[in-house]
Amino acid sequence: MTLLAVDTLRAARAGHGFAIGNDGVMLILRRPWLALDIPVTPPISAYVPYGSVGDPRADLLCGLIPHELLDQILDHFLAALPNEAAAFVLWNEATGAFASHLPGIEEATPSRLVYRPPVLQPGWHLICDIHSHGAGPAYFSATDNADDAYATKIALVVGQLGHPDGPQIASRLCANGMFVPLPRSPFSGEPHAA
Ligand SMILES: [Zn+2]
Repeated sequence: MTLLAVDTLRAARAGHGFAIGNDGVMLILRRPWLALDIPVTPPISAYVPYGSVGDPRADLLCGLIPHELLDQILDHFLAALPNEAAAFVLWNEATGAFASHLPGIEEATPSRLVYRPPVLQPGWHLICDIHSHGAGPAYFSATDNADDAYATKIALVVGQLGHPDGPQIASRLCANGMFVPLPRSPFSGEPHAA
């Protein structure tokens, strides 16, 4: 019965749960755009009467995000200098289309940004949450960690905008309170954010 429940979860359109096996506990998380199976504990040393939880995976079911969207967003961030700025990448489950969304900004300074996440129309999903740190370094701040604690999305911070060495990008997958390194860039045809 346990195996059947795990198989149902793995095949679900959306949801999450934990599988326990003799090689540890695995978070199984599904969104229409994401299939994520990641170990959340090391192998359990006590006897566990189950088999393996299976191989880890982190697959973008929506496919890679078109590179042009990242270029547009980086242009927008450059234009907003010296202030921070933000953008979202949305994906339509029915059509497979991607779109960028520039949020309403309530407050923007070189070190602080308050913005509203998009109100999603039916079928649209928020895939990627991108904000800039202006000319400052790209890293996830304590504020960013608090903002990302409950979301499932790809998060990117862009820093060193306008710097001769070009922008710097920090990335992670936020999943059910966990921050997971991205195994590869979520954008098509390029090495950014790997
Ligand atoms: Zn930040």
